[in-house]
Amino acid sequence: MSQFHQAVQERMLRYAMIDSQSGTVSGPGPSTACQRNMAEELSSEMKRIGVSEVFYDEPACIVYGRIPASPGVCAEPLAFITHMDTAPDVSGSGVRPWVLEKYDGGDILLNREEGIVMIAADHPVLKQYVGQDLILTDGTTLLGGDDKAAIAAVMTLAEHLLLCPELPHGPVCLAFTPDEEVGGLARELDLGRLGSRFAYTLDGDHVGWYQDQTFNAAAATLEIRGVSVHTGTAKGLMVNASDLAAEFMSMLPAMEKPQFTEGVEGFYHVCSVSSSCEHARVDLIVRDFDSDGFAARLAFLDSCTESLNSRYGAGTAVLSVTEQYRNMGQLLSRYPFLTELLRQAISDCGLEPVCEPFRGGTDGAALTFRGLPCPNLSAGYENAHGRFEFVPVQSMEKNVEILLSLCRRWAEMGALPNL
Ligand SMILES: [Zn+2]
Repeated sequence: MSQFHQAVQERMLRYAMIDSQSGTVSGPGPSTACQRNMAEELSSEMKRIGVSEVFYDEPACIVYGRIPASPGVCAEPLAFITHMDTAPDVSGSGVRPWVLEKYDGGDILLNREEGIVMIAADHPVLKQYVGQDLILTDGTTLLGGDDKAAIAAVMTLAEHLLLCPELPHGPVCLAFTPDEEVGGLARELDLGRLGSRFAYTLDGDHVGWYQDQTFNAAAATLEIRGVSVHTGTAKGLMVNASDLAAEFMSMLPAMEKPQFTEGVEGFYHVCSVSSSCEHARVDLIVRDFDSDGFAARLAFLDSCTESLNSRYGAGTAVLSVTEQYRNMGQLLSRYPFLTELLRQAISDCGLEPVCEPFRGGTDGAALTFRGLPCPNLSAGYENAHGRFEFVPVQSMEKNVEILLSLCRRWAEMGALPNL
């Protein structure tokens, strides 16, 4: 058991009980008021453990803090960013976290009254954690290890750095942000206040994994205008927008859908369709890691739209596309030391670093394009966004060690020139 075991466990249990579920984003400020409970908890905790420049930006619901460089160290400031909200998919209120010590590899009874059991065979990931201590729920809510496991690790790191001034590290900047789960993209994060030129987000499953690639992403809407005529006298006159919506969807490559793709393969995904004879609307998203591939997909949607218009008349179909985020790898490749130091820090802790392109977006992707290069280190939770979510305490301990190592390696690198 490492020196961080109790600290990360206590923190994860405490944070899990604070409801901070996000909702639909509308306008400035957090999507739900309850996220302020986490913000207030974290800002008072940071003050308690001696973090400097603690600032709670109340309107934006973002908490900042800073740990000054250790005496005599001149190094590039480094930031860690984690999100305070939990996913809206499953209830996040009334979370009752508990610790299963030394997991034996069998099924786990989560809730005797309701007969909820986590069947080991249904969750093969459990096998990796035999002998470890798992933080679980009572099977009726999510745990919120996404992303509170990361907050527990970062806060424990902060405490440790402040207790051990002899550890060499540069300035460490912290930020806790709202609404990651609902596409907030850390929009209101003030980069000036954060005070660093580089950052890492901590999020995602499987300890020791990291990401420096995300999808390029767009949302598209196809509006189709039909011609409604009484069905008895429709011959030669009616244009059924529902049929055209189906025709459009049949043009999309059958195997390039989320359920048939993995790794670095991109896809089209129809999120919703609503239609009548008079009008149809197809909402879809487009994802591709490669920027040329992404452009080709958008061009393909244009060509599908043109094909409908050439068959049924100009203006029948109108496509609108909104870019959502871009692959951060395009910019991160300019700063190879960011992922190199991260890989070394993971290896320092006895883990094999695993880099997997993130089949989604991260706040870090948005921040990278705002000028804050920001790869992601896994937070180490498992089964996120569901009732069977859990966090191995040992994964959080590892993350504290990885972060410590990362801070030390940054200090060794010294101050960076203007880039
Ligand atoms: Zn997350």
